[in-house]
Amino acid sequence: MGDTSAGTNRPAVPLPARRRLRTFAFDPMSTRLSGRFLTLDIPFEPDLGPGPAGDLVVVVDYDPVRRLWYEPVHLDDPAVLAQDGLRPVENDPRAHQQIVYAVTMSVIERFERYLGRRFRWRGTARLRLVPHAFEERNAFFDATRGAVLFGYYEADRRDPGRNLPGQMIFTCLSSDMIAHEVTHAIIHRLRRYYTHATNPDVYGCHEAFADLIALFQHFVHRDVVLEAVAAGAADLGRSTGLLALAHEFGESSGRGTSLRSAIGTPPDPTAFAATREPHRRGACFVAALFDAFLADHRRASADLLRLATGGSGVLPPGAIPPDLARRVADEAVASADRLLAMIVRAIDYLPTVDVTFGDVLRAIVTADRTFHPDDAVNLRATLVECMRSRGIRPDRVTSLAEESLLWPRPAQPLSLTEPDGVDLAPVILAATRNLDPTGEAGLKGEQVFRQVTTWANRHALELGLSPDPALPIALTGIHVAYRRTQDGQTLPEIVVQLTQRRRDLEASGVTSGADLPLLAGTTVIAAVDGRVEYLVPKPFPLSADVLATVPAGHVARAHHEAGERRLAALRDWLAGVDEADARPRAAAAPVPPVHVGRWEIDPADPAATKSHADRPLFDPVFVADPATLPGSLAQALQSLGLRKLTRDADAARGGAAPDDPSA
Ligand SMILES: [Zn+2]
Repeated sequence: MGDTSAGTNRPAVPLPARRRLRTFAFDPMSTRLSGRFLTLDIPFEPDLGPGPAGDLVVVVDYDPVRRLWYEPVHLDDPAVLAQDGLRPVENDPRAHQQIVYAVTMSVIERFERYLGRRFRWRGTARLRLVPHAFEERNAFFDATRGAVLFGYYEADRRDPGRNLPGQMIFTCLSSDMIAHEVTHAIIHRLRRYYTHATNPDVYGCHEAFADLIALFQHFVHRDVVLEAVAAGAADLGRSTGLLALAHEFGESSGRGTSLRSAIGTPPDPTAFAATREPHRRGACFVAALFDAFLADHRRASADLLRLATGGSGVLPPGAIPPDLARRVADEAVASADRLLAMIVRAIDYLPTVDVTFGDVLRAIVTADRTFHPDDAVNLRATLVECMRSRGIRPDRVTSLAEESLLWPRPAQPLSLTEPDGVDLAPVILAATRNLDPTGEAGLKGEQVFRQVTTWANRHALELGLSPDPALPIALTGIHVAYRRTQDGQTLPEIVVQLTQRRRDLEASGVTSGADLPLLAGTTVIAAVDGRVEYLVPKPFPLSADVLATVPAGHVARAHHEAGERRLAALRDWLAGVDEADARPRAAAAPVPPVHVGRWEIDPADPAATKSHADRPLFDPVFVADPATLPGSLAQALQSLGLRKLTRDADAARGGAAPDDPSA
């Protein structure tokens, strides 16, 4: 079916550009209560195999607890194609596979749109999605396996919310969970060292991005937004459903409510500083961002409300007129899109290592200013104010004025394409041809690597890195992004990530016991002609002999001082977490799972860890004979090492959760 020649029409009918697939809204419980399903509109992959197995993701439906394969769905089956995918049901594993695939592809596509380039995993890798990976109240992205693993569990027997006590709940059927976990995988692809918890914000940023993308994913569905507008009398701040995550998971776990709400608590400038716990800091950031969203939405719909009320802007009690609801919903979708674009574009402007929420704010402001210089609707200023009112501000900026939040420009003009510099032409060509030179695709990468690292060594002092030849500088990523500015023009940008491992400092024992590499890093944002626009350095102090060679007033002295502050902060953090909370310390291991019990496993709760290996998950007709499966699925399973996972999970039943690195 993937090939037009398989069709029976002559002349052949071209393949469609899009594929429509049905999902729950946004999980089985919510669909049962509302009677509503949703349809996702995703790119049509012409050679999609059973699984589904596409170019970017492959769904591996092996159940390691029961040691069974479930029949993979063929989305190109005419019977499936003709009805926008299988009807979402809980008792057919193929519907589970379809939902996991559809939501993942939709999230990836939204990243592509706002990043301004094709998204690829490293080299030729594909993300593996395992819908029935283990029996726990959890789902997590496993960076080592390159997989998202979804758990399932029995609903709480005492307080299952609006579910049956003991009913099997599948995290892979929750659009929010899928979007959240896949975002972890995407962020990990774009910033691989954010698995190093070098300050309380690193994991918090991972979590905040994952929650934000999952929340903004709700706005893909205009009908859902429309309903929320109608229910909240045009004020989305009063609608809980649209701005909350994972209802079914929350209720079935005995919490009586959704897992998290974007609206959170009223702004409190001390709340952020009061906690070093990564998830709570992440929640402050998400809440601040949605404060900005609601403020922008109120601004954008104020004129509609005035028109509809003869100037007062105050709606009479009762249902709001459908025409007004539609217009207000459109404004909500537009505001959500613009904020989502700001956040996703900012990812390229983030430091390569040791990110903080202050850095995220600076990255958002700098990136957005490049694309929307005049900020006609005052969105940046609104966002900065909402962050301030929740206590989030960058360290060591002199004010919250936009100019002081922008990332620094090079002290002296700096160009990637100086004589004997980097030949950007092949990079731009490769990007245009959809290749990522940091991957294994194409030989061009090697030359680019060499040129960029040579250039970086030559300018190490200006970049906030050490020129010591014993400390090699690595090119962690180079991308070309094509973005649209407010005047409709395309603005290409080169984004280079450099890192340098400071073994000299590691030898001094700063991180002894934490098993954490000490990485300095710099993000370089350049124009296509090679001119460096911004530098985002995360330096470490220079050694005494290198420092002695640096003239007074050179920017490297400022980098060195910033490096000393950074090192002191890191020492503090590592010493503090040691006593206060075992988790972040354990999380400082080289590549820990990104998820640190985020979905709130309670290892003390026997219901959460009980095994039901003797209870079939699905009707036996869905159990597949491994001999009939496509080789690619079996291969994907082999490389996943899920047997190991089962053993981990078995061990975990005696205590901690499988994704808990402190276990
Ligand atoms: Zn998470």
